Amino acid sequence: MEHYDVAIMGSGIAGLSLVNYLQELSVEKGRHISVAIIAKGRFDQTNTNWAQGGIAAVTSASDSFQSHIDDTLVAGGNSNNIKIVEQVVNSAPEVIDDLIRWGMDFDKTEKGSFDLVKEGGHQFSRIWHHKDATGAAIQSTLTEKATKLSQVAYFEYNAVTQIEREQSGVFYLKLQHIENQSLRTISADTVVLAGGGIGALYAKTTNQPICTGDSIFFAKELGASLKELCYVQFHPTGLYSDKQTTYLITEAIRGAGAILRNEKGEAFMKLYDERADLAPRDIVSRAIFSEMKKTGATNIYLDATELGEEKIKTHFPTIYSYCIDNMELDISKKWIPVVPTQHYLCGGIEVSDSGKTSIEGLYAIGECANTGLHGANRLASNSLLEAVYFAKKAASEIFNSKSPKKDSIEVEHEFTDFPITKLSREALQQKMSENAAIIKRTDNMHDMVDWITNTLSASPVLNHYTLADIETNHMYYIALWLLQDALDQKQNIGVHFNETL
Ligand SMILES: Cc1cc2nc3c(=O)[nH]c(=O)nc-3n(C[C@H](O)[C@H](O)[C@H](O)COP(=O)(O)OP(=O)(O)OC[C@H]3O[C@@H](n4cnc5c(N)ncnc54)[C@H](O)[C@@H]3O)c2cc1C
Repeated sequence: MEHYDVAIMGSGIAGLSLVNYLQELSVEKGRHISVAIIAKGRFDQTNTNWAQGGIAAVTSASDSFQSHIDDTLVAGGNSNNIKIVEQVVNSAPEVIDDLIRWGMDFDKTEKGSFDLVKEGGHQFSRIWHHKDATGAAIQSTLTEKATKLSQVAYFEYNAVTQIEREQSGVFYLKLQHIENQSLRTISADTVVLAGGGIGALYAKTTNQPICTGDSIFFAKELGASLKELCYVQFHPTGLYSDKQTTYLITEAIRGAGAILRNEKGEAFMKLYDERADLAPRDIVSRAIFSEMKKTGATNIYLDATELGEEKIKTHFPTIYSYCIDNMELDISKKWIPVVPTQHYLCGGIEVSDSGKTSIEGLYAIGECANTGLHGANRLASNSLLEAVYFAKKAASEIFNSKSPKKDSIEVEHEFTDFPITKLSREALQQKMSENAAIIKRTDNMHDMVDWITNTLSASPVLNHYTLADIETNHMYYIALWLLQDALDQKQNIGVHFNETL
C-alpha cells in the first residue's frame, strides 16, 4: 500500500498552500516529507478558481488592523473568536507576501502601487485582487507551483469515498477514480481535509458541483466535532437563472457604486440598513428576500449602469463578458437580474488555532473548517485569507509532529461496509432551500428532520451505486446535522435567522 506522511483532500487554495508550505519547510529543515494531494475533479475544479473579489489585507497607512478586525467582528455578529481574528488579520500582509513570492500577480494602479479596492462590510479599500478573477489567478499560480514538486503524489480525478483511522493512529483512505471507477487505498500518518463547502445541498448555489460537503461527513464519521454548521452564508447577488449553479456577481461591483433595485425599480437598501447596498451579506440577503416576498418576484435587480461602459469593462471584464455571452445582457446599459444564492459555509469542522480537529492527526483547513474567524457571518474576502493562514499554521505543526509507528501500517486494509441507499439529491436540495436557508422556522426544520430520518430508513440499500449516490448519502447526513445545529441555536445572529424564535 502506498503510504504518505500527509494526505491532503482538496486542491483549492487551502490544500495547495499547504503543499507549498510543507515543501518550503522540507527544504529549510533538510527533511523529506511525502505528501499526497487528492482532488475529486481536475485540480482547478474548485471554489477557489471561481473567487472573484479578492483577498483582504491591511497594508496602507490610512487603514488599520483594528479597522479590519472591527469589520470582521461586526459582520460575524461579535461571535467570532477574537484571538483568531486578531492573529489572522495581523498576519494578512504576510499571507499576501507569500502569495506574491509564489508568483501571484495582484493588480497595480497606473502609478505602480497595488490597486486595493473596497467591498461590502469593509470600511477601507483593502482587497487585493486580480481584475474580477482573483481566484483563477491564485488557483493557477498555486497549481503551477505545487505540481512541480518532486515529493508530492498527485491524485487528480480521484474522489476520497471513505476514511478510517486505526488505533495505531494510521489513516486509510479509499480513492475512487471518477472516470474509470478504479479503487485504490492509500495510508497516511496525517490527513488534512480541505474539501471546501456544501453548496450541493441547496437548489441554487455559487459553488462548484464538487462541493458536496465530503470533508464534513468524514470529519464527523472519524469522531471530530462540528461547530455552527447552520451558519450558511447566502450571497445577495447570484445571477438569476434556472440552473443550480449560479454565476456570482461580485460585491466589488456594489463597492464601485452599483445599487440594488426592486421589481418596481426602487433603490430599497436604505430602508433596511444605513450602510445601504454595502451592508453585510446577511442583511442584504434578508432585505432582498423581504422585497421579493412583498410582490412574489423571483428576483430583483442590480443596477451598474451609472458606472459606465469603460469602468465596467476595465474592472469587471469577466462579469461583463459572461453576461453578454450567456444572457445577451450588456450590464453597462441594463440592470442585472439577481437573487440571493447559497455561497459559503461559515461553520464547519471545529479546529484549533493550527487547524487541528479533536482527532489526533486529523486537520481541516479552508472552507470546511470552523476556525472562529468568521463567527456567525463571513466578511467578504476573508476566506481566501483564512485558508492560506491556516495552511501555514497547519504545515508547521504537521511538520513537527510525531508520526504513528510505521510498523503498524497494514498491507491491506478492510474498510467497514457503509450501506448506500437510493436517495433523491434534488428532493434534498429543494427542501434545504425551503427550510434551511435565509429565513428558517422551527416547525419546518422539525418536519424536515423527520423527513430525512424517515427517508434514510425507508430507502432501499443499493448493491451497485455511483459516486453521486455516495455523495448524496453523505449530503443527507450533513443536512441532518445542519438542521439539528440550527434547532439548537437560541438566538438569531449573523446568517442564522429563525423567524419563530
Ligand atoms: C463564486 C465564488 C466567489 C468567491 N469569491 C471570494 C472572494 O472574492 N474572496 C474570498 O475570500 N472568498 C471568496 N469565495 C470563497 C472562497 O473562494 C472559498 O471559500 C475558498 O476558495 C475555498 O477554498 P478551499 O481550498 O477550502 O476549497 P475549494 O477551493 O472549494 O477546493 C475544494 C477541493 O476539495 C476537493 N474535494 C472535495 N471533496 C473531495 C473528495 N471527496 N475527494 C477528493 N477531493 C475532494 C475538490 O476536488 C477541490 O479540489 C468565493 C466563492 C465562490 C463560490
